[in-house]
Amino acid sequence: MHRGARADNNFESMRARLVDSLRRRIGIEHISEQVLQAMMMVPRHLFVRESDMAYAYDDYPLSIGYGQTISAPHMVAIMCTLLDVSKGMNVLEIGAGSGYHSAVLAELVGLEGTVYSIERIPELIEFARCNLSDAGYQNVVVTTGDGTLGLPEYAPYDRITVACAAPAIPPPLVEQLKRGGKMVIPIGEFMQELYLVHKNDVVSKERSGGVVFVPLIGEYGF
Ligand code: SAH
Repeated sequence: MHRGARADNNFESMRARLVDSLRRRIGIEHISEQVLQAMMMVPRHLFVRESDMAYAYDDYPLSIGYGQTISAPHMVAIMCTLLDVSKGMNVLEIGAGSGYHSAVLAELVGLEGTVYSIERIPELIEFARCNLSDAGYQNVVVTTGDGTLGLPEYAPYDRITVACAAPAIPPPLVEQLKRGGKMVIPIGEFMQELYLVHKNDVVSKERSGGVVFVPLIGEYGF
């Protein structure tokens, strides 16, 4: 076995331990088995800075530079479970960051679905694109722009996930969500709460617990 293969095996067993600990600590009422299986497929060590690779399978956020972080694995898992993603869906993410959350979504939508992710920091767009390509994902499109305006070109979306905290739900995101669609979004400045938004005849939202995210910056952001 060459050294690279041994390192990969090592990461795989660290990943299995992380997934197992999420299953035991947080439970299947908050993290679905389908999401845990998707996380088992994504090499998170390819989405962190090289100096942080040894910590890639610990359950906390890590800096990715530019004042931004890759979210903790449990947070990605909880958000993906709330979002209730299935194969073939068209999903929009605001805040690509490292590209890790997009990769988990890409596993959930499968090759018959697409994940669109918007990022405002040029260096992170490059970081996310490289990480996703190194990990072999072809069904994720990372674009530049102000995510508070959504991405009208590919709308409507079955699901929208926002990876930064907003002052309120940006109206363009509600417009670009399909009828029957769902969105998860953290709202608040100092005290933030995660919301699950449903769009039917009316738009309703339910609280899903306190969270800590970097701010959403933009026209409908801070
Ligand atoms: N999902 C990411 C975590 C990203 S942190 C991951 O898995 O790594 C939130 C990201 O949102 C940051 O990269 C930040 O630059 C970005 N962001 C903040 N406001 C934004 C906006 N209006 N449009 C697009 N990206 C935004």
